[in-house]
This record gives sequence, C-alpha cells and structure tokens, in this order.
Amino acid sequence: MKSENGGAGHVIGAMLERFREKEPPIPGENEYIGENGLLFCSVCRTPKQCRVNMLGQPAVVPCICQCEKERLEKEKKRQEAEELQRRIQRLKANGIQEKHLLDWRFDVAENTRDIQRARKYIENWQKVKAENLGLLLWGSVGTGKSFIAACIANALLEQSVPVLMTNFSKILNQMGGMYSDERYQYIASFSHYPLLIIDDLGIERNTEYALEQVYAVIDERYKAGLPVIITTNLTMEELRQPEDVAHARIYSRVLEMCTPVQITGEDRRQKIGSRKQTVVKEVLDL
Ligand SMILES: [Zn+2]
Repeated sequence: MKSENGGAGHVIGAMLERFREKEPPIPGENEYIGENGLLFCSVCRTPKQCRVNMLGQPAVVPCICQCEKERLEKEKKRQEAEELQRRIQRLKANGIQEKHLLDWRFDVAENTRDIQRARKYIENWQKVKAENLGLLLWGSVGTGKSFIAACIANALLEQSVPVLMTNFSKILNQMGGMYSDERYQYIASFSHYPLLIIDDLGIERNTEYALEQVYAVIDERYKAGLPVIITTNLTMEELRQPEDVAHARIYSRVLEMCTPVQITGEDRRQKIGSRKQTVVKEVLDL
C-alpha cells in the first residue's frame, strides 16, 4: 500500500515538474512569444500554450491554436467523407452485381411521370421504411421497370442505405449448391438490406422446388416487415388469377406487401432501336 502511494506520488510529481513554468519557451517556426510570455502562433495569432492549475500547482500546457484546430477539423471531415465514399462503394459492389445497373440513375433519366413517382419514393424513404411500403412495378416488356428500380437502388445506395437488387434466377442459382440450413441462412441474410429489389418476377424456373424458394424469400421479407420492390412483365390478371396454388400463394403475398404501380413509359428499347435506325439511315445515306 505504502509503496503504491509512493509510486503514484512519484508519477504525479514528475508530471507536475514537467509542466512547471521554468525558463521562457523557445519559439519554433511560425511561433512567437506573446505579452504573457507564452508561445503564440504567428499565422493565426492565437495561443499555443496556456497557464492552467494542475493539482493546485501552476503549470504551462500546450494548446491547439485556431488555425491548427481548423486544419484538424478539415482533415477529420475529409477522412469522414472518404470513409463514406468507401462505404458507398462497398455497398454498391455488394448490392448491385450487374455492372450496367450502376449506370441507371435518376441523373440520366428522362423526367417522365414514372420517374417522378420513383423520385418521390426516395424523397419519402423514411416513411416508406417505417410503413413498410413495397412496390410492384408492372407493365409490358421495355417500359423501363428495371431502369426505374435501378434508379431507386442507386439513389438509396448513394445515401449509404444498403439495397440488394437481384432476381430469382440468380437467387436460385446461388442456392443450388447449398444445404437446407445454408439456404435458410442465405434467405435470412436478405433482412440486412432495408430494401430488397427483385427484378423480373415470373421468369424463374417453374419447378416445385423453385417456387418453394421464391415463396420462402418473399415470406421472410414479409415476416421481417421490410419493404420489397418487385418488377414483373406479368399482368394484374395473371397475378390475381394464377394457374396453380403454388403461384397463388406467392402472388397473393406479393400483392399484400406491394402496391401495384403500372409502368407505362414509352418503349425505351424501341426508342433506342429507332434512334439507331435514324443514325444508320444517316450513315448509309438511305
Ligand atoms: Zn495558428
């Protein structure tokens, strides 16, 4: 006990000695001695040393001048911004595996009614999440359903919200080599994403096994109370009156979770086609 106190007293004594004001300080680069006899920064003319009371003893300690403080704050902000960018890059690499989808963003979208609605979904994301508002983007081939879904995915990823955009063919391929408990883990892992986007419902394999997994993924989302956006070429009639019980089970759950939004957008592929035709006509002078 005695020796411990002696040891602590020794450490405190050494500290007090270290900060005791002795001879005047020697100014370094960009420093000068102020009227109070302590070091000042010659750039911002604020103190780099302060007199304090240390355990009842007067002491002189270093302090951070204004310009150094500003530099440190700026550096911290820069590091935070870099860390955020790295996080967004990781989220994108993880959430959007098909590289072309990364280019489908609001900033390259035409300002159609469909796009305006999709923007609203993002603007109200907190409410969407809290109220678990899923969307079923339906409409014929080439209306830009996947484009709209990818715009939503990219916009949320840019806000560092984890999104997974995938489709059932991919999910079923992944599950192919898994044992049943691994499959369960895999399906449960989707709950880490505040938003799950499943592109092109209805084109996956039609086997009993496949339909069971499709249902399992959707049902897991339902139980987790998390939103899902689904795109499909199926008509509302096909969704409401499916051919068999297995499909009926899936679609009725989808319709329970997602509000159907018909995507009418003019046929984008046709438009790209006709633009190419125009260019070809110019090139060939037809
Ligand atoms: Zn300074």
